[in-house]
Amino acid sequence: MEADTKKGHFIESIIREDLAKNKNHGKVITRFPPEPNGYLHIGHAKSICLNFGMAGKFNGQCNLRFDDSNPAKEKQVYIDSIESAVKWLGFEYGEPLFASDYFDRLHEFALELIQKGKAYVCSLTAEEIREYRGTLTEPGKDSPYRERSVEENLDLFARMKNGEFDEGEHTLRAKIDMKSPNINMRDPIIYRVKNASHPRTGDRWCIYPMYDFTHCLSDALEGITHSLCSLEFEDHRPLYDWIIDQLSTPCHPQQIEFARMNINYTVLSKRKLQQLVDQDHVNGWDDPRLPTLEGMRRRGYTPASIRNFCDIIGVSKKDSRIDMGLLESCLRDDLNETSPRVMGVIRPLKVTIENYPEDQTETLEALNHPQKPEMGKRNISFSKEIYVEQDDFMEDPPKKFFRLGPGREVRLRYAYFITCRDVIKDETGKVIELICTYDPETRGGNAPDGRKVKGTIHWVNARDCMEAEVRLYDRLFKDENPEEGGRDFIENLNPDSLEILTGCKLEKSLEQAEPEKVFQFERLGYFCLDSKEGSKDAPVFNRTVTLRDAWAKLAKKHPPRKNQPKKK
Ligand code: ATP
Ligand code: MG
Repeated sequence: MEADTKKGHFIESIIREDLAKNKNHGKVITRFPPEPNGYLHIGHAKSICLNFGMAGKFNGQCNLRFDDSNPAKEKQVYIDSIESAVKWLGFEYGEPLFASDYFDRLHEFALELIQKGKAYVCSLTAEEIREYRGTLTEPGKDSPYRERSVEENLDLFARMKNGEFDEGEHTLRAKIDMKSPNINMRDPIIYRVKNASHPRTGDRWCIYPMYDFTHCLSDALEGITHSLCSLEFEDHRPLYDWIIDQLSTPCHPQQIEFARMNINYTVLSKRKLQQLVDQDHVNGWDDPRLPTLEGMRRRGYTPASIRNFCDIIGVSKKDSRIDMGLLESCLRDDLNETSPRVMGVIRPLKVTIENYPEDQTETLEALNHPQKPEMGKRNISFSKEIYVEQDDFMEDPPKKFFRLGPGREVRLRYAYFITCRDVIKDETGKVIELICTYDPETRGGNAPDGRKVKGTIHWVNARDCMEAEVRLYDRLFKDENPEEGGRDFIENLNPDSLEILTGCKLEKSLEQAEPEKVFQFERLGYFCLDSKEGSKDAPVFNRTVTLRDAWAKLAKKHPPRKNQPKKK
């Protein structure tokens, strides 16, 4: 977290200084540059919020640019999903841009490099190139093809482009320094033959530029002033700068690196998320347990809560792991303000109210948000038969249990006081129904005689409710760091990350629920209709988040034993 919120984080400071010096003529142009080879996750949201945030703050512009120079893994569905995720997060961009739209200009830049004697066609095999590259401790060796003439290079590169060679036969390499301590500078490949159809350029090209060549030049072509990327690109910066320095580009963007977002109890990497999906550990990319933006959206996360989370964690140069509890508390803060309250019983226990008239149904008023009268009221119905939560009854309750038990009186939220008179059990001895009486004088929840009850419980009218499936989610992994000590994260999956409850009883008003619209089920947590599974007749609700952080409570209840060896 940033200590100095006035000046903002270090990137904001850099931008302010640049503006003060009138660098880039006082302009700020950033970009969010995903490769369309998968779905976005919450880590990407950090980059989105940062890039769009800085542009917004300084009256600038942020481009959404697809870095689509590797046709083998890229697909239109990813492009569509990424666009919709950025919009959903609340950011606006003009038309999306594509690195592939610059293929002609990138090709010209490659020709310019060759003409300047700064690039050559190399005919080593992939394996030979690896051998020649050297290691972190040993310098590399020059390729025997390094001194080819400009004419020969131009000819070979043209023939690469014309499809005369197979993949891997020749590559175009930047001519930098095989002895550089930075391996990225040891004559990196900038173009290779690839016989793949591209989602946007089809079969027009059979040579494709490498990421390091594409990225910096795309930035330069777009007039990006500050090219913000994650720390793993720090070692690529000299190459970024080298390429731009050699070529006649319109500008020289400044690359600035920041630490990636990591969150405990989950993984943030497209490759690992892909593995979870491919091996069916979860049900698709939008599984509500995943940290993908599609999954989080389906689960009921709000864009505001994600933006706020990214704001709070700030931007720094140091890697860290953020507590999932912080993300959830940002979500709760937002939902607490915005979500209407309703009643739903997820583990129903039938209650029959003996002294309530058999055929009577009455309408009671309930507040949509007790602290926000402006959110209005709704009607709920009451009858002789209702459901309460199984957890709200104990046959042999301890003293401090302020809910239902034999002979005990509680308040039904927005309705009456009821007293438990009898229980009905099945053959196994399980309580399956409560017989209660109600006090007609307590309508609305107060006793005229001033009699107090300690507990208020939620309920649903059994004769006028909707039935639904409810899915409860828990953390996807058992441990804070699923990969601790280099172990396989798959082994650390939490087998109880999904609990499906069927036959849940919800108040009738929820028949109007729309996906992504979150409700607080009083006393239970926040829930929303699932956007993908279920139907009008058999709806499915997702628990977005609990009311409180159950994990924090658990940690307090069971503090680590003192003499326990410390985890390494
Ligand atoms: P992954 O490692 O999950 O595949 P990536 O970095 O390969 O992600 P890109 O599509 O290349 O995914 O990312 C687009 C932008 O999002 C990049 O600028 C990248 O730095 C940034 N980004 C990706 N993951 C994170 C993260 N966890 N925290 C912050 N920024 C991220
Ligand atoms: Mg990547």
